[in-house]
Amino acid sequence: MTSARRRTLAVVTRSSPGASETDLGRKRRARRIGRVLAETHPDAHCELDHSSALELAVATILSAQTTDKRVNEVTPKLFVRYPTAAAYAAADRGEMEELIRPTGFYRNKTDSLIKLGQALVERHEGRIPGRMADLVALPGIGRKTANVILGNAFDVPGITVDTHFQRLVHRWRLTSETDPVKIEHAVGALYEKRDWTMLSHRVIFHGRRVCHARKPACGACTLAKLCPSYGTGPTDPTVAVKLLKGPRARDLAVAAGIDPQLVPVQAVTAEVP
Ligand code: SF4
Repeated sequence: MTSARRRTLAVVTRSSPGASETDLGRKRRARRIGRVLAETHPDAHCELDHSSALELAVATILSAQTTDKRVNEVTPKLFVRYPTAAAYAAADRGEMEELIRPTGFYRNKTDSLIKLGQALVERHEGRIPGRMADLVALPGIGRKTANVILGNAFDVPGITVDTHFQRLVHRWRLTSETDPVKIEHAVGALYEKRDWTMLSHRVIFHGRRVCHARKPACGACTLAKLCPSYGTGPTDPTVAVKLLKGPRARDLAVAAGIDPQLVPVQAVTAEVP
């Protein structure tokens, strides 16, 4: 029997975490998950390129229904063309639509960006405000976007409940809430406030690279022993390693105790969703 196979059997035969768990037990497991994620994804960060709160707000609006990579391809030109809120407010609609077209839904997004620029000029002297209440009152900015902006541009801790975050905290049975705001509060209560922003980045990193929506790489996951949903995806490490994604796929395999040679080149070069 190979060592990879032995490891699989060892993991499969452990008792399932999450079953009849106390609140304290869940909190402790959540903290352990947080620590393992920090070790697994030391490179976790906001994947939208930006150098100011305004650029981050614009990039976050553009990121709806598309990948961060696609957004990062269009923003360098966009940020040069529109360096201030006033520039967005006065933008030529057709020109902006052409610039952001590759991100999809470009008409709606253009509308949001122009209205955002106008609202910032009218209400905030052209600057992005640093308070949740002011941010969510701006066109195109919901609570999720506001938390991204607060956490990454203002150092105000925030939990970003996107599709990956939602899927993973459900798989970990940290909460059964389905409303994003309730998820934010329920998960926030399990962690120190100062850790919220980095936790969000790490959870999203894990969702994009390991715990995929359709085929999670359970057999190559550092959280296998802490996850009640272990087995949702393939548990055979030789199969699971092929599901890892991104330039650090081999490091992720090592972190999970698997021979990095088993990771195919396609996994390393795969586009992270
Ligand atoms: S990949 Fe599998 S074991 Fe890892 S967190 Fe996702 S469901 Fe759990």
